Amino acid sequence: MGPARAPAVALKAGRDKSLRERHPWIYSGAIERVEGDPGPGDTVEVRSHDGALLAVAAFSPASQIRARAWSFAPEAIDAAFFAQRVRAAVEARTGMLDERHTACRLVHGESDGLPGVVADRYGDTIVVQFSSAGAERWREAIVDALVAATGAANVVERSDAEVRRLEGLAPRTGVLRGSVPGPVTMLEDGLAWRVDVLAGQKTGFYLDQRDNRHCVRALCADRDVLNAFCYTGGFTLAALAGGARSVVSIDSSADALALARENLAVNPDLRGRSCEWREADVFTELRELRNRGASFGMIVLDPPKFAPTAAHAEKAARAYKDINLLALKLLSPGGLLATFSCSGGVSAELFQKIVAGAAQDAKADAAIVGRFCAGADHPVALAFPEGDYLKGLLIRKARGVRG
Ligand code: SAH
Repeated sequence: MGPARAPAVALKAGRDKSLRERHPWIYSGAIERVEGDPGPGDTVEVRSHDGALLAVAAFSPASQIRARAWSFAPEAIDAAFFAQRVRAAVEARTGMLDERHTACRLVHGESDGLPGVVADRYGDTIVVQFSSAGAERWREAIVDALVAATGAANVVERSDAEVRRLEGLAPRTGVLRGSVPGPVTMLEDGLAWRVDVLAGQKTGFYLDQRDNRHCVRALCADRDVLNAFCYTGGFTLAALAGGARSVVSIDSSADALALARENLAVNPDLRGRSCEWREADVFTELRELRNRGASFGMIVLDPPKFAPTAAHAEKAARAYKDINLLALKLLSPGGLLATFSCSGGVSAELFQKIVAGAAQDAKADAAIVGRFCAGADHPVALAFPEGDYLKGLLIRKARGVRG
């Protein structure tokens, strides 16, 4: 008897193109045969119809994405493999942490060669999220690798994203290393932030907007700013630091607003400026502001993901159009709108069309004067365009009134 053959999946004829182009997902419909009875998270060899080895991947029997490639070479998938991948991801971010910034994303899933793994650093604490069967299988090795690569004292797990269900995984959260009794403190752009790593949204903070908050900070001097979907005050504090005359911030989450107030309190230099927090639904509140004849010199719209996939795009398009139309009406002549979409199901091209339609309906002459995306700690592998989820436009409303 020869050595036991490794579990494997064989692809249907003609279904190997995307893997050869190094896209890491193997959909169930592309698979002809599964050999060796692999369980959730087990490593499988992925072979083309004619038997060529294309990848080694993590098997996920419950998911439509039946396997995710760890490597496109015949590599051993073991603790040493994860130590090397994690080290490479951490090293790629060295320039992003300095005396003004103590937080950034360290591992960004597929685009860092680690499908289903996200790790964010907040000072001495790392927050990890495992959202695939393969990531789940190797979580101890990945956590050890993160600690070894960074020397961080604390690790918190926030594997409570909805997508875990698609992989047949139950949510799991908790402190894995060290001690984290509550919100942690970090610096972004020289400002102090309290981050609720245990119960906040995502891993506690929207790190992907770091560069865009900096951009808003540079543009808002002496403007009256409206920050819709403010969460814990990201763009609000950036605007205050940039010399905004006043900021009105809206969010529906009382917990987020409580931490937003705390964030203002821990930055004494920003106090004393006009800063108002409103717990409200943005769709309703924008209408009320309009009915009251309010106007703003700068508006930030950073809504949640209205369209997780392309199937939700139409309904999402209506919601994006609605808030952008109202915002363009609320903008004073010469005013700036920073408008975002983090929906994977809405492309940058579609988003621009939606905003153009909103300007039409608002009878506003406006121009794109800048474009936004996520920062360098959220890379998008060219072979994995799905990673390109965050897009934004900086719009300037014309000074003249339309005749
Ligand atoms: N700009 C923020 C991140 C925004 S995340 C930052 O820089 O940190 C989106 C926010 O929208 C969340 O805080 C969520 O609570 C809020 N939200 C979702 N739907 C809402 C609605 N209909 N009205 C008001 N806020 C809403």
